[in-house]
Amino acid sequence: MHHNSNGNAQRDKPTRAGTWVFHAFVLFLLAIITLWALAVFAPLRARSTAADTIFIGRFLTLDPANPQGEAIAVSAGRILAVGSRSTVEKLTNNATRVIKFSGLALPGFADAHIHVAGIGAQLERLDLRGLTKAEILAKIAKAARSAPPGGWVFGEGWDEGFWQPPVFPTAKELDVVSGDHPVALFRIDGHSTWVNSKVLTRAKITRDTPDPNGGAIRHDAAHQPTGMLVDNAQELIRSVTPKPTYADKERRIRAALRQFTRWGLTSVHDAGADLDTIAIYKDLLKRAELPVRIYAMVGGDKARAHYLTSGPEPNLGNGMLAVRSFKLFLDGALGSRGAELAAPYTDAPGERGLQLMTNADLGKIIQDARKKGFQVNVHAIGDRAVTRVLDTFELAGVRKEERFRVEHASMVTDDDLARFARLHIIASIQPVFVGEYSRWAEDRVGPTRVHWVLRTRDLLNAGVDLAAGTDYPDSDSGSPIDNLYCLVTRRSAAGKPEPGWQSDERVDVDQALRMLTGGPAFAAFQEEDLGSLTVGRYADFTVLSDDPHDLPINGLRALTVQMTVVGGHVTFDASQN
Ligand SMILES: [Zn+2]
Repeated sequence: MHHNSNGNAQRDKPTRAGTWVFHAFVLFLLAIITLWALAVFAPLRARSTAADTIFIGRFLTLDPANPQGEAIAVSAGRILAVGSRSTVEKLTNNATRVIKFSGLALPGFADAHIHVAGIGAQLERLDLRGLTKAEILAKIAKAARSAPPGGWVFGEGWDEGFWQPPVFPTAKELDVVSGDHPVALFRIDGHSTWVNSKVLTRAKITRDTPDPNGGAIRHDAAHQPTGMLVDNAQELIRSVTPKPTYADKERRIRAALRQFTRWGLTSVHDAGADLDTIAIYKDLLKRAELPVRIYAMVGGDKARAHYLTSGPEPNLGNGMLAVRSFKLFLDGALGSRGAELAAPYTDAPGERGLQLMTNADLGKIIQDARKKGFQVNVHAIGDRAVTRVLDTFELAGVRKEERFRVEHASMVTDDDLARFARLHIIASIQPVFVGEYSRWAEDRVGPTRVHWVLRTRDLLNAGVDLAAGTDYPDSDSGSPIDNLYCLVTRRSAAGKPEPGWQSDERVDVDQALRMLTGGPAFAAFQEEDLGSLTVGRYADFTVLSDDPHDLPINGLRALTVQMTVVGGHVTFDASQN
């Protein structure tokens, strides 16, 4: 045995050394695990018991399980508690910031269809909204006088619906006031441009220039171009207009984002972002300078091809940026007579609008998109375009969980109303369009079809998921308060017409608020994180001057934004501005 044991000892030596090494290793591991646990769990525990920030005021949560609150505690951008002030205040420690406000907080306003870069550009252009033709020409004359020699003059937002008679303008009218300056004035819908003769010459648009696919060059009786370029015909001047640099784009996007915070927006769906725009969002996100959540719809063939290769980016920076949808166009807009109708325009009997994409091409893109998990959001305004997008979705066997969207859905027949619901297609509508449509929709489509235009309540009653947006700057206003007012009163942002346009399409304040909060959240796959002030969700809210339920509906327009909060950070504070 001794021998054996010696032998064992001999043999044991390395084994014992091995055991020691093993024990030491286990101890070492335990120490590492303990240190790691201390480092990781201690702050986690602290995070779950103490708030970074507490907001004290009045909250309407839009959460039926817990509809009101006096305070909200925020930790790491999310709601830690919502309830009575005394309950929430228990979650404070020395480091907790306390912010009090007056007014009423609602879940943050979202805009399901807006053009971020477009708003930035618009802020740097002449604003022609609501002006008569004489006022516009006077404004152009003044701008031309102060522009550098030969410099461009850009304007935006004109609508012949404000003029007498309400007819499209001409290059000749601009020539009188514009001297040697090229002038391009975008119609309110962004679907047509009024240019002067200088621009027609530079772009080499003559009586012999053919209409491009999906576009129209308007001509006079002598077949001379009038200076009105519709839809894809606007591309003809793109090559002669000064191209914005990356720096121009970034400056404009920053300006638009600042504007959103003032409007009380906490989340916007950018209805067509190119690769530069998405790069700028990512850059701002990296520098913690993105004050609004962005749901970017990828726009344009180039950007779509890029994303079909790289795949979706559904959640960047704690829900601040998502790129997981494509924006496509089937037709133009109603005001410019580019919306695709099944029967001719009432005020242009030979015209049915423009088809910007065939069903077959859309079907192909849908298949490519689905393989990669992209949502497909299709612009369709005319009844024919809406029918075509639903046909194509149906043929593709689109499933409920894919949440495909029709952007605008401005003219919906009764048959298509039911199909929206049956196919589970989201309607992304623009209540603020009541302004434009009340001015000329009946001229365009006549007294019968006008009942298919902007059917808010009908869509709601049919059980269709609705998300509200403004399409700004291609509309009268980008403010969610104006959008709320338009939804509830069916008046324009300017309060017209007095009795409301197609007023049986009104919805109540609660339905409207849902379309401005939870509706867009669902349309962006964010309903678990946004849309109500509920524990665990992002601390995004908009503080209004009053409770919209307490005001007569005609007084809603007087609401003001007191404060905007995104992920627990104050992005706008009226008392500091
Ligand atoms: Zn749009």
